[in-house]
Amino acid sequence: MKKVSQKVQALRCLEMVETLKQYGIVNQRVLDAFREVQRHLFFDVDSIDLAYNDGAYPIGFGQTISQPYTVAVMTALLVERTPSGKVLEIGTGSGYQAAILDALGYSVYTIERIFELYERAEKLFSRLGLNITCRCGDGTLGLADEAPFDGIVVTAGAPEEPESLKHQLADNGCMVIPVGNADLQQMTVITRCGDRFRKEVFQQFTFVPLVGREGWNDNIF
Ligand code: SAM
Repeated sequence: MKKVSQKVQALRCLEMVETLKQYGIVNQRVLDAFREVQRHLFFDVDSIDLAYNDGAYPIGFGQTISQPYTVAVMTALLVERTPSGKVLEIGTGSGYQAAILDALGYSVYTIERIFELYERAEKLFSRLGLNITCRCGDGTLGLADEAPFDGIVVTAGAPEEPESLKHQLADNGCMVIPVGNADLQQMTVITRCGDRFRKEVFQQFTFVPLVGREGWNDNIF
């Protein structure tokens, strides 16, 4: 494996942020968080020199670390509606999205259904000194004992918005979630207004499936 120095990684990180700007990410807080969090720390050693490309890469167990542009779009949708507070991420994966939310100053909770990924991310957060609460389980059911949340970010593709998650939003809180079929999902934002939920839809993406009681059935994949 080619060893890439810290200085080169830092330069590549700045180039990645420039690419995000060219793709239309303008929120300064979001861009600053992408400058602060070193994406290569969330990669395993075999793919470390790809860390600052704008791509999604395998992290094991059939899962991926999302493309930086996708993470930036979701984060910007959240920050513009819910600038601070308590946020729940569904789908910890590598831990990168949770670390970006932490860099933005949110109080971050994250759930992963695959035990090995949960364990790896929890160890990494602890090594990096990040105060992120990790749980292992079915994130489609949310985290009732910690609700309500000012924001929820779902980083896997859902067939529909899970009711449990909608009801764990605080008033005026919002959920960013890709919703669609197994191949293509529409980025969706659900905002809670009392007992009602407002829905906005944005561009399409392709995510790994959200598998769980209020997501896709495990045995269809
Ligand atoms: N946020 C991740 C990151 O920054 O690396 C992206 C991870 S990947 C695109 C989506 C993750 O969602 C996978 O790790 C997958 O195991 C997880 N996942 C899928 N369904 C889930 C569920 N019901 N509860 C928790 N995690 C789930």
